[in-house]
This record gives sequence, C-alpha cells and structure tokens, in this order.
Amino acid sequence: MTARREVDLDKLLPYPRWRKGQYELAEFIYSNLGEGRTLLIEAPTGFGKTIPTLIAAFKKGVEEEKDIIYLVRTKNEAQAPFTELTNLRAKVGVDIWFSVFQNKRDVCAFKEFRILDYEEFLLRCKMFRDRGICRFFPEDCEKIYSKVAELFFNSRSLEEAYDKILSNGICPYEAMRCLSRDSNVIIGTYPYIFKEDIRKVFLHSINKRLEDSILIVDEAHNLPEYLMNTFSFRLSVFDLKMASREASKFMSREISREFISLMNLLEKWIKSLASTMNNEIKIVRNFGELIVFADDISRFRSEVNAAYLRYIARRNTGRSYLLYVYRCLSNVLKTRMQGYILYVSKTPVTALVYQCINPSVRVGKIFSKPWSVILMSGTLPLREYLELMLGLRRESTVEYRVEGRVKEATEIFVAKDVTTKFEERSEHMFEKYADYIYNISRLARNIVLVVAPSYNLLRKLLKLLLLRGLKTVIIERENTRIEGIVRKIKGLRRRGAETIVLLAVAGGKLTEGIEIVEDSKSLINTVVIVGVPYPEPSPLTEEMIKEMNKLTRDPRKAWESVFEAPATIKILQAIGRSLRSKRDKATIFLLDRRFIERDTLKNLVEQMNEDYNIITLEDFKGYQ
Ligand code: SF4
Repeated sequence: MTARREVDLDKLLPYPRWRKGQYELAEFIYSNLGEGRTLLIEAPTGFGKTIPTLIAAFKKGVEEEKDIIYLVRTKNEAQAPFTELTNLRAKVGVDIWFSVFQNKRDVCAFKEFRILDYEEFLLRCKMFRDRGICRFFPEDCEKIYSKVAELFFNSRSLEEAYDKILSNGICPYEAMRCLSRDSNVIIGTYPYIFKEDIRKVFLHSINKRLEDSILIVDEAHNLPEYLMNTFSFRLSVFDLKMASREASKFMSREISREFISLMNLLEKWIKSLASTMNNEIKIVRNFGELIVFADDISRFRSEVNAAYLRYIARRNTGRSYLLYVYRCLSNVLKTRMQGYILYVSKTPVTALVYQCINPSVRVGKIFSKPWSVILMSGTLPLREYLELMLGLRRESTVEYRVEGRVKEATEIFVAKDVTTKFEERSEHMFEKYADYIYNISRLARNIVLVVAPSYNLLRKLLKLLLLRGLKTVIIERENTRIEGIVRKIKGLRRRGAETIVLLAVAGGKLTEGIEIVEDSKSLINTVVIVGVPYPEPSPLTEEMIKEMNKLTRDPRKAWESVFEAPATIKILQAIGRSLRSKRDKATIFLLDRRFIERDTLKNLVEQMNEDYNIITLEDFKGYQ
C-alpha cells in the first residue's frame, strides 16, 4: 500500500478530516487509475464517495495531463460534485475549473421547447442560433467569460448558478460551453457521452477527447438498464399516421406520395404481425423486412430535413412525427439487429419495438476509449454482470467495495409463508401480503416503505389495505412525481399521522430517489419488500436469456444477468432509502420465501446480515 505522505491526498481535502474509509478509497483510486483501466467502486450511501473520488482523479489527472468527465444520471445528482468542487476551489484554493452540463433542453430559455424530444430540440436550437433568433446565444465567448465564471463559481447551488446566468441574458448551456475551455472537470448527464450523435457534437464543442480523459460514471448500478432503454425505440401505428399527415403537408406532392405509401406498407406489416398475436407481445424473427423499410426510408434523408424546416417555419412547436419515424428507422441501419430484438406490442397501443437487450454492442467501444474509467454506486452489480452488459475488458478491471452498513444498521425478517411466484399468485396470497403490511404498519413509526414488483400489485394492495382500515397510505403511480409525494407526506405528518405507508414500485422513481429526512435521520425506518422484483417472465425475457446464453455459454450466468442482477439492484436500492446517514437504523421485511430457498437470494440476505429472522404471519398474533 502506498504510504500516506507519498500520495499526499490529504492536502486536497476541503474538510478538517476524512470520514471513515474515505482516505483508503481515495488512495485505491489514485493508485489504480491508469491507461486502459476500469475501476468498479461500491460505497454505501452516507459514506461520501464523491470527495475521495474527485480528489484522487483530480490529482492523477493533473499528473497525467488528463481531464475528468464526470457523468450523472439526473440533473439533481450533479449537485454533489458541484458542491465538492466548489469547496475544493474555495477552501483548499485548488486551481480547479469545472463546468456542468445539464440537459440543454431543460435549461434552454425557450420553455416551450421542453415538450420536444431531444434530437428535435437540438435542431430547433441550431436553427435559432443560425438565424440569429436566439438572443441568449453568446456570439463571442471572450466577452462573457469572466462574467460567467464570476456568477458560476460564486453560487451555492447549480440552480442558483443557472438562474443567475440566464437572468444576465446568457444561455446557461452556452455559458458552460465557454467555461469548459479552461475546465479540467466536466460534469454532464449520461446522454452527453452515451448517445452517439450527442457525444460527437458535445465533445467537439467543448474541445475534449475521451482518450485524454478519466471518465467517472456515478450511480452506475442503473447503467445497463438505462442504456437498454436509451438505445431502444417504439414505433406506433399512430406515429406512422401522423408522419404521413406531416409528409402530405410539408413534402412535395410527388415525394409525399412515395413517403406515405412507405408508411402505409409499414403500418400494414405491423398490423399483420399484431393480428396473429396470442400474448401481450410477439417476437418478430423475420427482421429482414424492417431492414428493407429502414433502407427505403434512408433515401428520403434530404426531403425529411427540408420538410422539417418547413414544419418549424410554420411555428409548429410540437414534436415532428416525420422526423421521429425517420430517426427510429435510421437507427436500425446503424445496428442491424446486433444486440437487439424486435417485437410487436399491443399495450398501450399497437407498436413495433426495437429493443436493445445487449448494450455492450453499443457502448463497448465507448468504454475502451477513455484513458481510464471509474464506475461507482452505492449498490454496484457484480463485476461479471457489468463486464457482460457494458463490454468491459476483464483483464483491465479492478474493484473496490466498501462494506455496507446494512448489517450493523438493520434487523432483517424473512417471511416463509408468502411468495409472488407467478404460479402461486392468488387472491388468498394477496390477502396475506396485505395482512403482513397492515400488521407491520401497526408496529412501526414514521414511514413504512412497501416495495412491490409492479404497479398492478401496488393497486391491489392499496385496495386491500384500505379495506383493513389503513388511512395513512400513499401510492406511487406511473406518473407520480417525488416532490408531490414528499408534499403529501409532510401534510399527513403535520396533521398528526404517526405512521405512513408508502407503496412504491421496485426500480421506480421513489425507490431510486426519495429522501425524507428530519434532524439528519431518514424518516423511512421500515422497508417491506413484497415478493422478489424479478422482471416478469415473457417472450422478451426468453429472448434475453437466449442472447445471454450465446454470449456467456453458461445458462446460470444468463439467468443471473436477466433476472437476478436487476432484482438485486432494486432490492438494495429500496433498502438504501432507509439508510441515508450513519445515524439511521431500519427494520427490513423480505416477504417471499424464495429469500431463503434460492441460493443467490439467500446469499444476498446473508451478506446483508447473517443473523436474519424467519417469520410467518402467525408471529404477529401476539402483537394484536
Ligand atoms: S442557444 Fe440556448 S437559449 Fe438559445 S435556443 Fe439554444 S439552448 Fe435555447
């Protein structure tokens, strides 16, 4: 191990002392960053992994003349590195320059653009700049540079910084672009690097290269799922009809006739596939047909662009379906089904779905470019899974996992008399689950977070809990916003509610992001996991298993990557909501007998706390 004085990371710390384990993490990162290396870092919530990571990467970056590109999943997550870097500048006096790129559409001065999809928004922005319509676009970075730096580096939060910049008549995105000229740290959201078209333009505009950078990806537990969603598209019959309508308005008569007939053929094909469906979805094996459609549409490239300009010129601010359909099909030509499956779905509307199931095909190259990579999270999946899904090279990957606090901070109960196993689902089983939750809520205080695998199950549980007389219960719905839920909880607590049951879906917005803290302690002190949040078995998961079998030649690994790994991430994320600081303690109920029957799940429980308790519904009788 490197001696502390040789590395001398201490001098960069903007606080009186390191928290437990932080120095060791910084030292590990500093010693292991190197050309072509990927570091997998897991440190639990409340550990404070941002500052040791930034200090180690910054020091190494200065020595090796590398920039840092720090990626966050959501704009809120950019606040932590912003705060730490501001502290490094202010308290330690380090000559560190940084800029933060949030979603350009969200920070754009023209709020009406927020309904556009991102690629379309970029075209609008370009047109506004090129035609001199946008008065917020700075013609000359030199003229605004010192003003932007002054506003940005003297703000307490990112929101404040962006507000100040915009109220000075400067586009926040362009302000950051100007600032990036001298920045050795660039913070941005995932799409800036993981979306191919955006990446090229972005890196070019800020004059950086991945090859000369240390790439840090925060909250990387979600990366495989995020990438699968990002690289997929859904084309509905409605999209095709709307594209035809736009074509008839904005293309010449002759071209529109050809284009519309192509849309009609595509629609007919999708409908004929849908007409033979027995299940919710139907896998399409003959994807050659789709490639022919994609080839055909590629001939319309210049006509689509010209039609789009006419569309904007008519002051249309809504999304262009013509452009959307064109872009979806162009994507097929880029990937030609490698790492993808094609299926037709009837819910919510009939649509053709081009689903990425192996993102390594798209991002393997991205991860091989940076000088070095750090993937970090509070609940990082197994190394093998990340190597498989992200195309990381095994020989150059090292990992560092800080032992979690789950063991010392939780008491775990596993129910042996319930399961959400598909074959055993019944009204009786749901009643038992409702009894469990009801009994737990009567013993608990503050917030009981109940996490179920699907919205349907949540709705069922809500009904049963209300029938049992539970009044203070809040449910997450598909369109729920975290702020709304937090407001409801605060309202209920103001009105004297001692216990609130919060029903959330596994892997949803609440389990990923809700934080309800009072006096630096999480108010969520009981977490109930209903069932095992495996993806629902479907023709889609069958195809994923086949693809993973091909890749790994190991059925066990294939199963783990499709079912176990995503479920484990969701469970740990949900539990993590109750352990936000060192002072937090929580009671965890794992309500499914598979937690003690299946080896991988049993291992997970034992890793969390080997002194877990096995219970049945009968055990609550003494407390009634
Ligand atoms: S330059 Fe900035 S403010 Fe102007 S349209 Fe583009 S994003 Fe919006």
